[in-house]
Amino acid sequence: MSKTVASVITIGDELLIGQTIDTNSAWIGKQLNALGIDLRRRVAVGDDKKAITDALNEELANAQLVIVTGGLGPTADDITKPLLLEYFGGKMVVNERVLAHVKDLFTKRNRPFLERNMKQAEVPETCMVLFNRMGTAPGMWFERDGRVVISLPGVPFEMISIMLEEALPRIKERFTGDAIVHLSVITAGEGESFVAEKIQDLEEALPAHIKLAYLPGAGMVKLRLTGHGTDEATLTDEMRPHQMAIANRLEDIVISLTDEPMEAILHRWFTSHGKTLALAESCTGGYMAHLLTQVSGSSKYFRGGIVVYQTDVKTEVLGVNKDIVDANGVVSEATAMAMAQQATTVLKADYGFGITGLLEPPTGDDKGTGVAWMAVAGPEGKTVSRRYVFHYDRHRNKEMAASMGLLMLYKFVTDGTRPWRD
Ligand code: AMP
Ligand code: MG
Repeated sequence: MSKTVASVITIGDELLIGQTIDTNSAWIGKQLNALGIDLRRRVAVGDDKKAITDALNEELANAQLVIVTGGLGPTADDITKPLLLEYFGGKMVVNERVLAHVKDLFTKRNRPFLERNMKQAEVPETCMVLFNRMGTAPGMWFERDGRVVISLPGVPFEMISIMLEEALPRIKERFTGDAIVHLSVITAGEGESFVAEKIQDLEEALPAHIKLAYLPGAGMVKLRLTGHGTDEATLTDEMRPHQMAIANRLEDIVISLTDEPMEAILHRWFTSHGKTLALAESCTGGYMAHLLTQVSGSSKYFRGGIVVYQTDVKTEVLGVNKDIVDANGVVSEATAMAMAQQATTVLKADYGFGITGLLEPPTGDDKGTGVAWMAVAGPEGKTVSRRYVFHYDRHRNKEMAASMGLLMLYKFVTDGTRPWRD
């Protein structure tokens, strides 16, 4: 079977003027890639009949599968459905299952059912309906000359639900592509060139169908091996030794063999060791607490965090000794250490983390902007600290500080052990 080529067309004026960021095509691209289907192009067009028709013609000339999102709402600016009716011919028919579902949604929400909502249950007779459990606009599957056009609503959670439940299984059945396997080695603490230098010979020894990509992030470099083959299990077995060879070579800077965020790695360490954590955040404003609580079940180990932004909150609420702040400054090693220690005491946790800094970009004078001090306190009063200078704007500096903070916590708690080997 020749390789399937796909295109995504996203529709909506809001996408062109930057009001909405097109997350739909990124998500769809990832799903298709996992099925071994090549995404050839992503096209965004406005709510305009000619623009949408042109895009369909152009993409269908090269792709066997075209996925369209947006323009399915009940308002006048949404024109995808009548346009597809015209494109594929035939007439509109009411789909009884969709009608019952839409009426049911309105009853449950206690809203009057309007004539305009009746239209949501109409579909071109030439399509197969892809049921939308999460909303009113059904997805639609059209076929012509062996090519498939799928139309989905623009609202991301509706699009995702229809894709997962209705469209992807059918896409898989219809266009089974090659197997693609991704395996990761996540490293932290060294730059991309250092990593590349260390594994150069391993990279050169990779067979042509296994490629290595470097994905640098805040304080981390993700290495991703991508293999192409016919059978997923065989390919995975073939790739595993390459992944392990790279991980063993990079040994002390490896933090995970799965592509996952640091908060997930920390979550696993804390829950499996039965230890608890508390934060005292100043310049990150609770952002680290937000990251940690993104992982479901984080209440098993995360005691909480206090945002101690103003100096008197650090001293009076968190209980940092005022003399320490007066003698060393609010952004200082001693203050960060006291914050970490007080976090363990006040929030009754095994480990505490403190961060204090000024995250505006460095100005080069003595104002100390861009500088953050962070500290981790652990059992038996052991405390470590570190100073960072962040060179970007306030928002990026905050993200960097939070990432480096989580990384520092990880290094402290794992203390040279290699949980990724377990
Ligand atoms: P529509 O189906 O055109 O009525 O889209 C409804 C809403 O979904 C829009 O107002 C956007 O907020 C959102 N949306 C549409 N297209 C996209 C997209 N490509 N990525 C993310 N959100 C989108
Ligand atoms: Mg729209």
